[in-house]
Amino acid sequence: QEQIDPDPTKKTLVVLGTGWGSVALLKKLDTENYNVIVVSPRNFFLFTPLLPSCPTGTVEHRSIMEPIRHIIRHKKGTVQFYEADATKIDHERRVIVCNDNSDIKGDVNQTEIPFDYLVVGVGAESATFGIPGVKEHACFLKEISDAQKIRKKVMDCIETAMFKDQSQEEKDRLLHMILNTPGSVVFVRNKTADSMTQVVVGGGPTGVEFAAELQDFFEDDLRKWVPDISDSFHVTLVEALPNVLPMFSKTLIEYTEKTLNEEKISLRTKTMVKKVTDKYIEAEVTRPDGSKELQVLPYGCLIWATGNAVRPVVRDLMSQIPAQKNSRRGLAVNEYLVVDGTDGIWALGDCSATKYAPTAQVASQQGAFLARLFNNMAKTQNIEKEMTHLEELAATSDSDADKESIKNQLAVKEKAVRKVKQLSPFEYTHQGSLAYIGMERAVADIAWWNGNFASGGAWTYLFWRSAYLSMCFSTRNRVLVALDWLKVKVFGRDVSRE
Ligand code: FAD
Ligand code: NAD
Repeated sequence: QEQIDPDPTKKTLVVLGTGWGSVALLKKLDTENYNVIVVSPRNFFLFTPLLPSCPTGTVEHRSIMEPIRHIIRHKKGTVQFYEADATKIDHERRVIVCNDNSDIKGDVNQTEIPFDYLVVGVGAESATFGIPGVKEHACFLKEISDAQKIRKKVMDCIETAMFKDQSQEEKDRLLHMILNTPGSVVFVRNKTADSMTQVVVGGGPTGVEFAAELQDFFEDDLRKWVPDISDSFHVTLVEALPNVLPMFSKTLIEYTEKTLNEEKISLRTKTMVKKVTDKYIEAEVTRPDGSKELQVLPYGCLIWATGNAVRPVVRDLMSQIPAQKNSRRGLAVNEYLVVDGTDGIWALGDCSATKYAPTAQVASQQGAFLARLFNNMAKTQNIEKEMTHLEELAATSDSDADKESIKNQLAVKEKAVRKVKQLSPFEYTHQGSLAYIGMERAVADIAWWNGNFASGGAWTYLFWRSAYLSMCFSTRNRVLVALDWLKVKVFGRDVSRE
């Protein structure tokens, strides 16, 4: 895409990020009204709900990526995209500083972009709570590169465990995968049994879904192609709270825990990871009598998914604005998603702090809302320009008939402006929660009339699959994901290391 000078008659709208929030905004935005500039270190949209299926190869990573170039090329007005990190938002000077942090750098790798309006949709990073060793030794599950890294590490652990003369103890350690995710699972090597255990930490949906995918991979494929690990491979899910999937109803939580048990995933609730080294984690376990015990769990691969933390660029912006002083989880916004203490800056999705959960559903509804808001703002400005022009005409006209006609036109336009300006504040409509729990079963809590419809099992799994297929970004993504599922059904998953 060639570089185009901004049209001086239009306002410049800079959008940070190419995730759920920003892409929903771009999809519905009438880009002809603004000089639109998108800045993101990722030149694609990622369909995160199927990311837990990527490390095991149930879904290929390219099937859930949609190039941002495809998205912006289909817009009527030109949209400029820069692959870069916004490293500073200077809200007083109204510029963002961005850096090209990719491997290949040109003569210029840092620049400033001025904006009239700014939408911050940079998402969040994985929380580590400052627990020692997590950053150095754990894998996260947020980006495609994370999924590739987990894949490499899991397969490496398996092949290294199979290395000639490896001791049983070392085999057990290597085959113990720990996943510490928000709602994650810790796979802990069971010391008493002679087994190789995988540990996932965090009993939120990311952890549960990935633990389930990993156990499926083991049961369906690894057991067949690497039979030597079949008695030793073990998955343990570690969660600090008393239950997994806290956002689901009690019946579905019980159903999930029962299913994980049937799958032979060891679930360790009330277990909080406190320290991580390259070979083991230390976790504090709360016993039924309330006393605490420190346990050491050796692992081969640790996946950490314990929720969201604020990105540095957002923290820096918050530090510039006194009105953000008491906000902890992200940018505090008003009911129109305007960042408190700013003018012309909006935030959406995981980088904002609202009463809603940080989910794709919320971010995409916020994006669609902002598109309506910007489309309305442009319409208002256009009508107001026309009204100014009519007023000028009326002031210079000598004819009473002309003046009367202009007056009528102005009344109509005034009514139109009032109508366009009547945009109600953002309100989220919850459509429900879905999660895959393994063995071709899923759980669903669906908003139904004024209540909730809860279901779990094989039929829900089919519903989960069809719902996720329909939610994929494009027909291309839909076809690729469906083909991936078919491929796995016919040929199984690939056990080679990437
Ligand atoms: P993101 O989608 O994370 O996008 C942020 C964008 O900002 C990215 O393009 C990123 O590259 C870019 N960016 C980062 N730093 C900068 C910077 N400095 N400058 C410019 N751009 C930057 N939610 C659901 O509702 N249902 C699900 O099933 C579900 N499954 C999930 C599974 C996984 C494994 C994960 C990790 C999350 C899942 N979520 C799900 C949560 C959902 O993905 C997030 O809530 C959603 O992505 C938030 O959207 P966002 O636009 O705020 O941020
Ligand atoms: P989460 O915040 O939902 O869950 C994190 C879990 O990790 C919590 O249950 C927490 O108790 C646990 N935890 C934190 N620190 C721990 C520690 N030191 N030791 C052990 N356990 C610890 O995080 P997530 O699962 O990554 O989800 C993030 C967001 O994305 C959520 O809003 C979630 O709803 C959404 N999401 C939704 C889906 C879905 O709908 N299928 C899937 C994935 C993510």
